[in-house]
Amino acid sequence: MTEPFLSIRDLRKAFGSFVAVHDVTIDIPRGQFLTFLGPSGSGKSTTLYAIAGFQHPTSGDVLFKGRSLLSVPSHKRNIGMVFQRYTLFQHLTVAENVAFPLRVRRRPDAEVKRKVAEMLSLVRLESFGDRHPGALSGGQQQRVALARALAYDPPILLMDEPLSALDKKLREEIQAEIRRIHRETGVTILYVTHDQDEALHLSDRIALFRDGRIEQIGTGEDLYVRPQSEFVASFIGNSN
Ligand code: ADP
Ligand code: MG
Repeated sequence: MTEPFLSIRDLRKAFGSFVAVHDVTIDIPRGQFLTFLGPSGSGKSTTLYAIAGFQHPTSGDVLFKGRSLLSVPSHKRNIGMVFQRYTLFQHLTVAENVAFPLRVRRRPDAEVKRKVAEMLSLVRLESFGDRHPGALSGGQQQRVALARALAYDPPILLMDEPLSALDKKLREEIQAEIRRIHRETGVTILYVTHDQDEALHLSDRIALFRDGRIEQIGTGEDLYVRPQSEFVASFIGNSN
């Protein structure tokens, strides 16, 4: 049997005596769009941060192609990240922001130039390379953040509520962009949201969190049509 692409095993995270994540186990196939859905405080971000390497788990493991990532520092995990308010470097241009992860990896100039153009085209901001982030809308800044996160072709992309600071119209527009980018790049995505509509629109599979545990995991249809508990039924059925 082949190893799963990304595997979260019995992951637990405690803050003092409070357990935020209770022994969560998930296998994620390559290329899957998996969403952590659930109410505020249910442990979604904490789980994501353990994968990113921002927080060391209390116990359990995170495996990439069968090898533990726990001893690998965050910046060496080759995981792209986009957050709610992604702090772009305000003093750098859009192109320089996208180039940044390639510069720190000491990629040759020609490759950096080619890759920046490719990424700006992927997020449809071809003509914005020379601007500064402050001159862009919130939605455009999130697209730059996406371009930067994907610039060095990370196999995994983590997104934590990347759209929640945007208005509804922009949210829908960028949701469509994210879907297209997932299709075009094949990158494996772990996405966090508390918005069930967003989860249903974007995901191949949804893990519904409740109090630090996965209440149910499956396709949007599984959760919608075959909820395994009252909690799942009401959370998925509840349209904010
Ligand atoms: P979500 O992303 O689902 O909203 P989080 O993973 O951020 O939830 O948080 C889960 C629980 O862990 C919450 O009760 C939160 O208050 C708690 N928590 C998160 N980070 C810390 C921390 N650094 N110290 C103490 N408690 C924390
Ligand atoms: Mg969170």
